[in-house]
Amino acid sequence: MSETQTEYKFQAEVDQVLSIVINSLYSHREVFLRELLSNAADALDKLRFQSLTDHDVMGDDAELEIRIRIDKEEGILEIADNGIGMTRDELVENLGTIAHSGSQKFLQALQEKNAEGGDLDLIGQFGVGFYSAFLVADKVEVISRAAAAEEAFRWVSNGRDGFAVEAVEGDTSRGCTIRLHIAEDHREYLEEMRIRHLVERYSDY
Ligand code: ADP
Repeated sequence: MSETQTEYKFQAEVDQVLSIVINSLYSHREVFLRELLSNAADALDKLRFQSLTDHDVMGDDAELEIRIRIDKEEGILEIADNGIGMTRDELVENLGTIAHSGSQKFLQALQEKNAEGGDLDLIGQFGVGFYSAFLVADKVEVISRAAAAEEAFRWVSNGRDGFAVEAVEGDTSRGCTIRLHIAEDHREYLEEMRIRHLVERYSDY
Protein backbone atom coordinates (compact mmCIF):
# COMPACT_ATOMS: atom_id res chain seq x y z
CA MET A 1 0.00 0.00 0.00
CA SER A 2 1.44 3.36 -0.94
CA GLU A 3 1.96 6.06 1.69
CA THR A 4 -0.30 8.54 -0.02
CA GLN A 5 -3.30 6.22 0.06
CA THR A 6 -6.13 7.28 2.36
CA GLU A 7 -8.77 4.85 3.52
CA TYR A 8 -12.41 5.72 4.07
CA LYS A 9 -15.55 4.05 5.33
CA PHE A 10 -18.75 4.20 3.31
CA GLN A 11 -21.55 6.29 4.80
CA ALA A 12 -24.02 3.87 6.47
CA GLU A 13 -26.64 4.52 3.78
CA VAL A 14 -24.17 3.43 1.13
CA ASP A 15 -23.75 0.07 2.82
CA GLN A 16 -27.55 -0.14 2.85
CA VAL A 17 -27.88 0.66 -0.85
CA LEU A 18 -25.06 -1.73 -1.67
CA SER A 19 -26.73 -4.62 0.09
CA ILE A 20 -30.14 -3.83 -1.41
CA VAL A 21 -28.61 -3.69 -4.87
CA ILE A 22 -26.71 -6.95 -4.43
CA ASN A 23 -29.62 -8.79 -2.84
CA SER A 24 -32.34 -7.67 -5.19
CA LEU A 25 -30.70 -7.47 -8.58
CA TYR A 26 -28.90 -10.79 -8.76
CA SER A 27 -31.14 -11.79 -11.67
CA HIS A 28 -30.66 -8.44 -13.47
CA ARG A 29 -26.94 -8.00 -13.11
CA GLU A 30 -26.60 -6.56 -16.61
CA VAL A 31 -28.14 -3.24 -15.44
CA PHE A 32 -24.68 -2.24 -14.19
CA LEU A 33 -23.73 -1.37 -17.75
CA ARG A 34 -26.78 0.82 -18.26
CA GLU A 35 -25.99 2.72 -15.06
CA LEU A 36 -22.30 3.23 -15.85
CA LEU A 37 -23.00 4.29 -19.44
CA SER A 38 -25.61 6.73 -18.18
CA ASN A 39 -23.12 8.23 -15.69
CA ALA A 40 -20.52 8.53 -18.46
CA ALA A 41 -23.02 10.21 -20.78
CA ASP A 42 -23.96 12.65 -17.98
CA ALA A 43 -20.27 13.45 -17.47
CA LEU A 44 -19.93 14.30 -21.18
CA ASP A 45 -23.04 16.48 -21.00
CA LYS A 46 -21.68 18.35 -17.98
CA LEU A 47 -18.43 19.06 -19.78
CA ARG A 48 -20.26 20.16 -22.93
CA PHE A 49 -22.35 22.53 -20.81
CA GLN A 50 -19.32 23.96 -19.05
CA SER A 51 -17.58 24.51 -22.38
CA LEU A 52 -20.33 26.95 -23.37
CA THR A 53 -18.99 29.48 -20.89
CA ASP A 54 -15.44 28.20 -20.43
CA HIS A 55 -13.94 27.84 -23.87
CA ASP A 56 -10.65 26.42 -22.66
CA VAL A 57 -12.08 23.52 -20.72
CA MET A 58 -12.01 21.09 -23.67
CA GLY A 59 -8.35 21.73 -24.45
CA ASP A 60 -7.18 19.61 -27.37
CA ASP A 61 -9.38 16.71 -26.25
CA ALA A 62 -12.60 18.04 -27.76
CA GLU A 63 -14.04 14.88 -29.21
CA LEU A 64 -16.29 13.63 -26.43
CA GLU A 65 -16.55 9.88 -26.26
CA ILE A 66 -17.16 6.79 -24.18
CA ARG A 67 -14.81 3.86 -24.74
CA ILE A 68 -15.28 0.30 -23.61
CA ARG A 69 -12.28 -2.01 -23.32
CA ILE A 70 -12.14 -5.67 -22.42
CA ASP A 71 -9.01 -7.37 -21.11
CA LYS A 72 -9.95 -11.02 -20.85
CA GLU A 73 -6.62 -12.14 -19.54
CA GLU A 74 -6.71 -9.70 -16.64
CA GLY A 75 -10.47 -10.13 -16.20
CA ILE A 76 -11.10 -6.42 -16.62
CA LEU A 77 -13.94 -4.49 -18.25
CA GLU A 78 -13.32 -0.73 -18.56
CA ILE A 79 -15.75 2.07 -19.28
CA ALA A 80 -13.88 5.30 -19.95
CA ASP A 81 -15.23 8.76 -20.72
CA ASN A 82 -13.43 12.04 -21.34
CA GLY A 83 -16.10 14.10 -19.61
CA ILE A 84 -16.08 16.38 -16.58
CA GLY A 85 -14.26 13.92 -14.28
CA MET A 86 -13.95 14.14 -10.51
CA THR A 87 -11.48 15.76 -8.13
CA ARG A 88 -10.21 13.88 -5.09
CA ASP A 89 -12.91 15.47 -2.92
CA GLU A 90 -15.60 14.62 -5.46
CA LEU A 91 -14.48 10.98 -5.59
CA VAL A 92 -14.83 10.76 -1.81
CA GLU A 93 -18.13 12.63 -1.71
CA ASN A 94 -19.83 11.20 -4.81
CA LEU A 95 -18.73 7.59 -4.43
CA GLY A 96 -18.69 7.36 -0.63
CA THR A 97 -21.97 9.02 0.33
CA ILE A 98 -25.35 9.04 -1.32
CA ALA A 99 -26.28 12.65 -0.67
CA HIS A 100 -27.85 14.16 -3.79
CA SER A 101 -27.67 10.94 -5.72
CA GLY A 102 -30.42 8.87 -7.27
CA SER A 103 -29.73 6.24 -4.64
CA GLN A 104 -30.92 8.64 -1.95
CA LYS A 105 -34.29 9.05 -3.62
CA PHE A 106 -34.41 5.32 -4.11
CA LEU A 107 -33.89 4.66 -0.40
CA GLN A 108 -36.51 7.28 0.51
CA ALA A 109 -39.05 5.78 -1.84
CA LEU A 110 -38.36 2.33 -0.42
CA GLN A 111 -38.98 3.66 3.08
CA GLU A 112 -42.13 5.55 2.11
CA LYS A 113 -43.54 2.54 0.34
CA ASN A 114 -42.33 0.37 3.15
CA ALA A 115 -41.18 -1.87 0.34
CA GLU A 116 -38.70 -4.67 0.27
CA GLY A 117 -35.37 -4.22 -1.45
CA GLY A 118 -36.50 -6.49 -4.24
CA ASP A 119 -38.98 -3.97 -5.59
CA LEU A 120 -37.89 -3.94 -9.21
CA ASP A 121 -40.31 -1.17 -10.16
CA LEU A 122 -38.61 1.21 -7.76
CA ILE A 123 -35.18 0.18 -8.90
CA GLY A 124 -36.20 0.79 -12.51
CA GLN A 125 -37.66 4.17 -11.63
CA PHE A 126 -34.69 5.58 -9.77
CA GLY A 127 -31.75 3.68 -11.07
CA VAL A 128 -29.27 2.28 -8.64
CA GLY A 129 -26.32 4.14 -10.00
CA PHE A 130 -22.64 3.53 -9.63
CA TYR A 131 -22.91 0.90 -6.89
CA SER A 132 -24.46 -1.56 -9.34
CA ALA A 133 -20.87 -2.08 -10.54
CA PHE A 134 -20.53 -4.47 -7.61
CA LEU A 135 -23.16 -6.74 -9.15
CA VAL A 136 -20.48 -8.08 -11.49
CA ALA A 137 -17.15 -6.90 -10.07
CA ASP A 138 -15.36 -7.96 -6.90
CA LYS A 139 -13.14 -4.90 -7.12
CA VAL A 140 -13.82 -1.55 -8.75
CA GLU A 141 -11.27 1.14 -9.57
CA VAL A 142 -12.22 4.64 -10.65
CA ILE A 143 -9.37 6.63 -12.15
CA SER A 144 -10.27 10.23 -12.71
CA ARG A 145 -8.89 13.61 -13.63
CA ALA A 146 -11.33 16.49 -13.38
CA ALA A 147 -11.54 18.94 -16.26
CA ALA A 148 -9.06 21.77 -15.64
CA ALA A 149 -7.28 19.82 -12.87
CA GLU A 150 -3.70 18.63 -13.31
CA GLU A 151 -3.67 15.74 -10.91
CA ALA A 152 -5.52 12.45 -11.27
CA PHE A 153 -6.76 10.18 -8.49
CA ARG A 154 -7.67 6.56 -8.11
CA TRP A 155 -10.60 5.34 -6.00
CA VAL A 156 -10.68 1.62 -5.23
CA SER A 157 -13.09 -0.63 -3.35
CA ASN A 158 -14.26 -4.22 -3.01
CA GLY A 159 -17.73 -2.93 -2.10
CA ARG A 160 -17.48 -4.23 1.46
CA ASP A 161 -14.71 -2.64 3.48
CA GLY A 162 -15.02 0.98 2.46
CA PHE A 163 -12.70 2.46 -0.14
CA ALA A 164 -9.28 4.02 -0.62
CA VAL A 165 -8.14 7.03 -2.63
CA GLU A 166 -4.64 7.88 -3.83
CA ALA A 167 -2.95 10.18 -6.32
CA VAL A 168 -2.03 8.66 -9.68
CA GLU A 169 1.48 9.22 -10.99
CA GLY A 170 2.05 10.21 -14.58
CA ASP A 171 -0.14 11.37 -17.38
CA THR A 172 -3.84 10.66 -17.06
CA SER A 173 -6.37 11.87 -19.56
CA ARG A 174 -9.38 13.96 -18.59
CA GLY A 175 -12.53 12.26 -17.37
CA CYS A 176 -13.26 9.00 -15.69
CA THR A 177 -12.26 5.39 -16.23
CA ILE A 178 -14.28 2.78 -14.39
CA ARG A 179 -12.20 -0.39 -14.20
CA LEU A 180 -14.26 -3.40 -13.22
CA HIS A 181 -12.44 -6.49 -12.02
CA ILE A 182 -15.08 -8.97 -13.11
CA ALA A 183 -15.86 -11.67 -10.55
CA GLU A 184 -15.14 -15.26 -11.52
CA ASP A 185 -18.86 -16.13 -11.68
CA HIS A 186 -19.66 -13.29 -14.07
CA ARG A 187 -17.08 -13.73 -16.79
CA GLU A 188 -19.81 -13.49 -19.46
CA TYR A 189 -19.27 -9.72 -19.12
CA LEU A 190 -15.82 -10.18 -20.59
CA GLU A 191 -17.37 -11.47 -23.82
CA GLU A 192 -17.34 -8.86 -26.55
CA MET A 193 -20.64 -10.03 -28.07
CA ARG A 194 -22.41 -9.89 -24.72
CA ILE A 195 -21.20 -6.34 -24.14
CA ARG A 196 -22.00 -5.24 -27.71
CA HIS A 197 -25.60 -6.41 -27.36
CA LEU A 198 -26.03 -4.63 -24.04
CA VAL A 199 -24.52 -1.41 -25.38
CA GLU A 200 -26.90 -1.49 -28.32
CA ARG A 201 -29.78 -1.99 -25.96
CA TYR A 202 -28.85 0.77 -23.52
CA SER A 203 -27.00 3.54 -25.19
CA ASP A 204 -27.36 6.36 -27.67
CA TYR A 205 -23.65 6.40 -28.41
P1 ADP B 1 -26.50 9.45 -9.66
O1 ADP B 1 -25.92 9.24 -11.04
O2 ADP B 1 -27.91 9.00 -9.52
O3 ADP B 1 -26.24 10.81 -9.11
P2 ADP B 1 -24.46 7.54 -8.94
O4 ADP B 1 -24.29 6.71 -7.71
O5 ADP B 1 -24.60 6.78 -10.22
O6 ADP B 1 -25.71 8.45 -8.66
O7 ADP B 1 -23.25 8.52 -9.07
C1 ADP B 1 -22.94 9.40 -8.03
C2 ADP B 1 -22.22 10.63 -8.55
O8 ADP B 1 -20.89 10.30 -8.96
C3 ADP B 1 -22.85 11.26 -9.79
O9 ADP B 1 -23.91 12.11 -9.43
C4 ADP B 1 -21.67 12.01 -10.39
O10 ADP B 1 -21.50 13.28 -9.74
C5 ADP B 1 -20.49 11.14 -10.02
N1 ADP B 1 -20.09 10.30 -11.16
C6 ADP B 1 -20.40 9.01 -11.39
N2 ADP B 1 -19.86 8.57 -12.56
C7 ADP B 1 -19.16 9.61 -13.08
C8 ADP B 1 -18.37 9.82 -14.27
N3 ADP B 1 -18.20 8.83 -15.17
N4 ADP B 1 -17.80 11.03 -14.45
C9 ADP B 1 -17.97 12.02 -13.54
N5 ADP B 1 -18.70 11.91 -12.43
C10 ADP B 1 -19.30 10.73 -12.18
